[in-house]
Amino acid sequence: MPAPAAAPAAPPSLDSHPLAPAALSRASVLYTDLDGTLLGPGASLLASAEGAPSLTAVRAVVDLNRAGLTCVICSGRNRWQLLEVARLLGWDSYIAEVGCVIVPGRGEAPLYFTGDWNKDALREGETPYEAITRAGALELLRRAFPGRIEEHAPWHLNREATHVLRGNVPLAEAQSALDTLELPVRIVDNGVINPPVHTLRGVAEVHAYHLIPQGVHKSDAISRDLARRGLEPADALAIGDSATDVEMADAVGLGVLVANALDDARVLEAASTRANIAATRARRGEGWAELADAWLAARSELA
Ligand SMILES: [Mg+2]
Repeated sequence: MPAPAAAPAAPPSLDSHPLAPAALSRASVLYTDLDGTLLGPGASLLASAEGAPSLTAVRAVVDLNRAGLTCVICSGRNRWQLLEVARLLGWDSYIAEVGCVIVPGRGEAPLYFTGDWNKDALREGETPYEAITRAGALELLRRAFPGRIEEHAPWHLNREATHVLRGNVPLAEAQSALDTLELPVRIVDNGVINPPVHTLRGVAEVHAYHLIPQGVHKSDAISRDLARRGLEPADALAIGDSATDVEMADAVGLGVLVANALDDARVLEAASTRANIAATRARRGEGWAELADAWLAARSELA
């Protein structure tokens, strides 16, 4: 039997990454994922990585806000959810639905991106979310994997561009099935979740999935947002916990992974092909605070 392929090595730690000092001292904007990154279990900002009450992440947010540094949420959540989170955190703009919806500032009209879709992919008045439904993507997956995939209620509501599902399906097979549709749709695994209720059958480990217009990546949305601000990639940092978050590094000076991201072999695989990825030593919100502290320290050395 052939030996299993060795997992790629973890990226260097933030405190020893050769690119970190210059990247941290130059950056003025941080693009941040929420779930599994800034937030603890149960999506709480007030919890440690282990779920104990903690102010560490909040303290870090306050420190960055006090320093006048810009944080932009970049998440799979819809823009109505992000509006409320941004208000709570004292932030202004956000990128929703895995890079498909940019809200440049609170109260401003959203900008939509549909990647590789043809100009006529959408019918008049139709959202990308509705087009994915019309193309039959959900029906197709339900038929191909009965009982193993369903909408991630209640988070599937009020979406405009992407669908969020939960279950456990072989990703390559699911993508092959979607490739038979006329509309190009990509399925992305957003990692393990623990939904309090679901109607899946025989699924021990539940994953969240997104159905996204083919060709849209969080990194493209970040590039567009930076261009809108008149900034260069080197003016920005990104932090996340999933393989899709690793792609954010392509649009910024330094991409950072919270330590819990390294539990996922797909994250290690994606990170191994990029030189500008560092990992924090702490998990979730405590890792986020580790980046915030390093960022502030690097900028104060500059002053
Ligand atoms: Mg996440």
